[in-house]
Amino acid sequence: MQDLMDRHWHHLPDAEAVDLLDADAERGLDRLEAEERQRRFGPNALTPRKGRGPLLRFLDQFNQALVYVLLAAILVKLALGGYVDAGVIFGVVLLNAVIGFVQESKAASALDALSRSLTTEATVMRGGERRRVDARELVPGDMVLLASGDKVPADLRLLRVRSLKVDESALTGESVPVEKRAGVMDRDTPLADRANMAYSSTFVTFGTAAGLVAATGDNTEVGRISELIARVDPLETPLTRQIARFSRLLLFGILALAALTFVIGLLHGESWIDMFMAAVALAVAMIPEGLPAVLTITLAIGVARMARRHAVIRRLPAVETLGSTSVICSDKTGTLTRNEMTVQRLWAGADEYALSGVGYAPEGGLTADGARVEPAGRPALTELLRAGLLCNDAVLREDGDAWRIEGDPTEGALLTAAAKVGLAAAEEHGSAPRLDAVPFESEHQYMATLHGGARPMVYLKGSVESLLSRCDGAIDRDGTVIPLDPEAVRARVEALAARGLRVLAFARMDGAGRSGIDHPDLTDRLTFLGLQGMIDPPREEAVRAVAACRRAGVSVKMITGDHALTAAAIAGQIGLGERADDGTLPAALSGRELAELHDDDLIRAAEQTAVFARVTPEQKLRLVEAIQARGAVVAMTGDGVNDAPALRQADIGVSMGLTGTEVAKEAADMVLTDDNFATIEAAVEEGRGVFDNLTKFITWILPTNAGQGLVILVAVLLAQPLPVLPVQALWINMTTAVLLGLTLAFEPKEPALMDRAPRPPGASILDAVLLQRILLVALMLLAGAFGLFEWALYHGASVEQARTVAVNVFAVGQAFYLLNCRSLRWSMFRIGVFSNPWIWAGIAAMALVQLAFTYLPIMNRLFHTAPISAGYWLALLAVGLVIYGVMGLEKLLRPRGTREPLVARQGG
Ligand code: ADP
Ligand code: MG
Repeated sequence: MQDLMDRHWHHLPDAEAVDLLDADAERGLDRLEAEERQRRFGPNALTPRKGRGPLLRFLDQFNQALVYVLLAAILVKLALGGYVDAGVIFGVVLLNAVIGFVQESKAASALDALSRSLTTEATVMRGGERRRVDARELVPGDMVLLASGDKVPADLRLLRVRSLKVDESALTGESVPVEKRAGVMDRDTPLADRANMAYSSTFVTFGTAAGLVAATGDNTEVGRISELIARVDPLETPLTRQIARFSRLLLFGILALAALTFVIGLLHGESWIDMFMAAVALAVAMIPEGLPAVLTITLAIGVARMARRHAVIRRLPAVETLGSTSVICSDKTGTLTRNEMTVQRLWAGADEYALSGVGYAPEGGLTADGARVEPAGRPALTELLRAGLLCNDAVLREDGDAWRIEGDPTEGALLTAAAKVGLAAAEEHGSAPRLDAVPFESEHQYMATLHGGARPMVYLKGSVESLLSRCDGAIDRDGTVIPLDPEAVRARVEALAARGLRVLAFARMDGAGRSGIDHPDLTDRLTFLGLQGMIDPPREEAVRAVAACRRAGVSVKMITGDHALTAAAIAGQIGLGERADDGTLPAALSGRELAELHDDDLIRAAEQTAVFARVTPEQKLRLVEAIQARGAVVAMTGDGVNDAPALRQADIGVSMGLTGTEVAKEAADMVLTDDNFATIEAAVEEGRGVFDNLTKFITWILPTNAGQGLVILVAVLLAQPLPVLPVQALWINMTTAVLLGLTLAFEPKEPALMDRAPRPPGASILDAVLLQRILLVALMLLAGAFGLFEWALYHGASVEQARTVAVNVFAVGQAFYLLNCRSLRWSMFRIGVFSNPWIWAGIAAMALVQLAFTYLPIMNRLFHTAPISAGYWLALLAVGLVIYGVMGLEKLLRPRGTREPLVARQGG
């Protein structure tokens, strides 16, 4: 145990590895020993390496066009001996960088914490019992069981391997999964070829295995490759990139305008120094420097809101895409339904039985044709239930006074059913111990187990389609084998499925060898044992969410591996798809029918059909593509290892936090921590809210910049003194963006948010109406600022005082306009005057700051301002009220809620 590191685990014989690790290959470590090792070795987690250091990230804040303009201004000021001005500009630049840095760090760490909140689980043997534990609790010597879909939780020396395939691309870059086998490897076998090892952070794509933990945490192979770790996704989305592009374009325009100002001024005979300052003022005034930071923060707030509603975002762009989602493809089991299965019907030996009771408690009675029956003397029934009990990986436990299952609810229901009829799990497993198993995979739709005992027996369970074709016999009521009547079985299945029951078929194979089983051994000569039908009630919140989606113009499709009739029945209960006039169930398209459709027909079918049954994972991928072919933005759920391609192809891949495999989670953009369909709908709603708030902020901030730019331009054209100096423009931009604009990110969701159609993907964020609005406000700010500036000068105010008035026009005007921008459709009184308290706090802070700017001597000196008399404040207030009134009226005159964004394609 001393020196576990740098052992050549792949080169050691099994027994030696077990010895060295002081492990038990059958029972695993006992609990005390595991705890003791946890203390000794620490958690099985990688120590996060720091990304770029804080200093670098801080310096990055200066890498902006605006800063370069300002640095030029500082140099000119210094050359002219304007030390105070240079100092002030420098101070503001510094402050701006600090604010940007703090905000960005906060957003990044919030996102980081969220992504870390998703834990990986592992199956281990502890004290002879199988348990699911947090992968961080693993210690060297732990016996880990791997199954397809798992993320390998630590470096494992494999002891028992069953057709295991592992995707090691995270470690070796090799994208084709590699096959593993037990045994001893040469000492100098390279990492990629060590077939008897499974390495942390790789993914099991097929098969099962058991292995001993050889290294944990930073001692694993992946822990040694530092570059792979702590790679935080950049805080970028298509929208922020689009805005960054827009800003660059804007910058060139602004610089050209600044140059023009400079030239025009010179032509007017002004001094080049004055005109240089005017050009700088123009550039400073017009560059919306608060924009990127606020965008990031709004997105981060959206992510936090989604997390509170159980949707964890793994990739930031998803926040935005969610808002334009137009189709949601959802699993049935567990997402639309509760995944609380109860077996209600049994069919064995040509008799149908009803089983009463709710939940997993093994209490309920057996009836046939309404009369109570005893299981004794009905061998066919007992054999059916025994198959369900033995061909099963779940565990039923009494936990206090409640019964719980560990494992797949479908299997849990089978255990409960067997217990109700008096089969004891311990006894059955004792007389027929499991020797081998073929695990359930949605592709094959069945599971099989090989049991020893007096004579070896294989039990199988799975979909009727997958089992029936392999059976040639059946058993009658007494357990005698008779020829199978497949039509009778199918008819019974349909009757059960049409009632919404999930139907499982059972079979057995006599005369198997003891050595092991695999798919090829199970193709024929099986004996059919019967059916078990279980209910899985729809989630009530799913019913509401489906209705909400319908109102929101988002169509919902059910894509399930279950039987078409079961799926259609549940769809009917949930309100998915249209029921025909005669009350028949919504039409479901089955995987087999899908397979026969050509791409064009598939595209049509994908649009028109709401229920897809017996769909294989590969077909899910085809379906996503077919739906996307018509321009839809698709969210698709998935949980299995084979769902990963479909999840990646979907615009929003959604994976299940509770029941999903690690592979699916890794491929997903969003993880539902409660597996609930309603959570997807909630996330769509939040996504729309985020987009709304982004639009509001942009609509709000641009007029300040445009207005100030116009004021300076007009002043130069008219050969008037500048109403706003560069430092003042800098000041007003910074204070309004932080104190006023940022508060829009906290705006709650608007009423009727989910009554609108989804935003067309790629639509530009500003449409013609918003652009007009921005221009209108800019013109009013221009008139107000320039008018009051000239008016003050005319009435004998000093130029400092006149400038103070002009700057305050922007502060007051933007504060009032902020109230308009709280909603782009509704009046403030409709959305609630105090529904966003930050707005009012921001406005109050802005007022204080402007009073200081106007009246504090030090501010007067730094920013060339001067105290103004009370009369001016009345005029300023009047300007603000006019802006608020005009913009309120404009909003009122536009038909509410029908403001559709102009579809301006931007490609991609
Ligand atoms: P879904 O999750 O969409 O309901 P699944 O892919 O889980 O569909 O299941 C598809 C079919 O496979 C089920 O209808 C059932 O017949 C069968 N099945 C499901 N779970 C198991 C299992 N644990 N063992 C055997 N067969 C199963
Ligand atoms: Mg399933």
